[in-house]
Parts: sequence; structure tokens; C-alpha cells
Amino acid sequence: MARPLARSLAPLTEESLPGLILRLAHRLERSPARIAELCGLNGHQNRLSAHYLMALPDDLTQAFAISSHLHTDEVRTLTLSCFASAYPPLGSVRLDGSRNTAAARKMWAAGLSRSYCPACLAGDGSTVQNLYGGPWRLRWHLPVSFACTAHHRLLARSCPQCDGTPNQPANTERQGLITQRTTSGLHPAQCRHLATSDGAGQRRPAAMCAARLDRPQAAAILSGCDLRQLIALQARIDRHLLPGPHSLTVTGPGPDPGFFPDLIAAAQLIRLAWPESARFAPSALLAELIDRHLASAAEQRAALAPGQHARHTWAAPTDPLECGALLVTADCLLGENASDDSGLVERVQPLAVAAFTRHPANIGAALRRMDFSPHLARALAPRLNGFYRAGGHRPAVRVPSRHSTFSIDHVPARSFPRSGSSPTSAPF
Ligand SMILES: [Zn+2]
Ligand SMILES: [Zn+2]
Repeated sequence: MARPLARSLAPLTEESLPGLILRLAHRLERSPARIAELCGLNGHQNRLSAHYLMALPDDLTQAFAISSHLHTDEVRTLTLSCFASAYPPLGSVRLDGSRNTAAARKMWAAGLSRSYCPACLAGDGSTVQNLYGGPWRLRWHLPVSFACTAHHRLLARSCPQCDGTPNQPANTERQGLITQRTTSGLHPAQCRHLATSDGAGQRRPAAMCAARLDRPQAAAILSGCDLRQLIALQARIDRHLLPGPHSLTVTGPGPDPGFFPDLIAAAQLIRLAWPESARFAPSALLAELIDRHLASAAEQRAALAPGQHARHTWAAPTDPLECGALLVTADCLLGENASDDSGLVERVQPLAVAAFTRHPANIGAALRRMDFSPHLARALAPRLNGFYRAGGHRPAVRVPSRHSTFSIDHVPARSFPRSGSSPTSAPF
């Protein structure tokens, strides 16, 4: 039975569950594992389950709320479940164990390891953040987070001292909610990687890297124009993730359930149709970054043993800069007016042709798993159905011609009707 902790902390805005546990551990001078135990979160074999990042079961939500002096609603905002309705890829994933983690990455759902903004971790100057650090933000676990709009910078991926990725174990330790969870005495913003050698090359297997991740770091080399474009897209993504009172006015458009599926499907198409798709990259440097990402993905595939599955083929780029470059290019492909079908068809069809002729074997399976809006489905459909016929499968996407009146019967299976194109608002 969980008992209230002697002292607790109110969650910071957008703080994640592992982030709050790290701050509680620092405040109470205990290890994160001990805090989890005191809060009733220790599960089977004393593990701190990675799945808790997605959602806490009701009994554990209750226990954690009692221990940490919080309301159960506050506890629920610490897990990715609060993005589930806004971010469709989160819908069906589990994050528990390396296989599920790889599957979650493939679906563009979420990752246990995370990018971070050093300035956010440094805190906002308030007393509580000066003492216990700023927030590890929940949305940094989503692959569509690549920049911090508050600090106008790209997220950092790794520790500047040891190059380790936060919460990505370098050894055989199973990836859980918090890496090296039994280690106490670290600030929440300190690197929890084991440093295997010191500067002189001597092995020091037990020492922590412990570098502070909340110190100023060199910013990515981008032109002001590229950076502005990446930040603008991130701001739009954030508005879709966290629809607040400012983004959803009574008269304005409602949340667009096709936004993320289309953005992700367009990003996959950009990769499959590279280099023909390079012309949609807003600058030569951004195209070069996508090129770099594709080259390293190809290297990873080449290094696979026969029979091993290429898990990373569809995963979002792990580097925030490369991911931002890919998404901003995908956004240019989709164009500003998603309902302008003829423009979209003109842009998408040549890429679909390039993608289908180059990757006939796996593209159908991959696209079958993907969700997208009727607009993108229409732009892709002739190629998709052509492929399915060629491959001997029945067409999986039923799409009306652009001239027909749109009804719910025409929405392809597993895709989302865009706001404004629902049957109730269609001009019958
Ligand atoms: Zn920031
Ligand atoms: Zn480090």
C-alpha cells in the first residue's frame, strides 16, 4: 500500500513521468528505483516498466497520486496517453521490451530514449526549477518533436561529453523507464550513462558520465531561413498535439485527424522516392541532411544478417535535425492547401511512380499499414491500386474520383476524414 512521501513536487508543464521521478529522487535524495518503490510503481521482478510512459494502470495511478500528493488527473498528464487522441500513431503500441520499442519506433509512435532541449532542462529561473531542474518534456518522446519553439532551437540528441543518448542503455541493460535507475545522487539533468574510460583511456567501468545536459550547447548549423521554417513547422505540430484555447476557437477549424497520418505518409514517400523527391526540400542543406539519413539507414540495412528484419527502414530518423529536415520536406510536398486535390496529385504522382518502380516488394505492405486522409489517398490511389493489381491482391483503397460527392462510404478503411469533408458538411 502506497503511503504519502515526506515531500513531493508539483509536476511542471508537460513534464513526463520519468522526469518527475528524477526530480523527486533528487529532492528526496533517493534513487529513482527507490522513489518508484515508495510510490507503488515497482512491478514484476522489481522492474520499472517502460510501458508506464504510455499509460499507468488505474490502480497504479491511484497509488502514485497518493504517494506524490497529486490528483489522479495530474498523474494522467504525465504519460503519453494524454496525446493518444491527438497523435494517432500512439493508438495501438506497447512500449515494453526491445521488440515493442522497435515496433513503436517503426510506427512513428514514441521512443523511450529522448531528445532534449538544454535550455528547458536548465529551468525557467523559478526557485523550484533552480533547485530541482526544469522539465523533461513528455512530447520529446514523440518522433515529431525535433525543435523547441520556446528557445528557438533544434533539440539535442546526445550527451556532449559521452555521446550517449538519454535513457538509451549503452550496455545490455534492458531499456526501461529510467536507465541506471538504482543510481542516486544525480541531478535530473545529469547524464546517466556509464563512462567506460576516462580521458586518458583508462577503463573506469563503474563511473557515471554525469555530464550536465542543461548547459548551453552549440546550436545546429542552419541558415536563419531553414531554422525559421523548421520552428514554424514544429509550432504547427505542437498546436495539433496540444490543442489549447488559442488554437481551437469556436469558429475556427476543429482538430484535423489527418494531419499526422498525412505528414508521416508523405515523409515515407519522400524517402522511398529519393532523390526525385529532393526538389521538395526547402534548401540544399536540408536535402543533404535527408541524404545523410538515408545513407546511414542503407548502411544499417546492409549490415543486417540474412533473415534479420530491417526494423529501421520505416522508423523516424533519430537525429532531430534529420527528422526536422524530412518532415519539413514532407510538409512542402503536401502543400499549404490540403484540399487542393489537383495540385496534390501533380506533386505526389511522380513520386509514387518512382517509389513503386523502385521498391515493388515492400512498398505495398508498408502502405497497407499506413493511415492517411482521403485527399492523400486520392493522390496515391491510381498507383496503389495499380500495384495491388500487379501484385495479385485486391485493391485495398477504394477512393472516389475528384468529381464525385464525398460520403463516408468513400473513406478508405483505416483512414481519417478531414474536418470539413464529413458527410454532414458535404454539399449534397
Ligand atoms: Zn526549450
Ligand atoms: Zn554522458
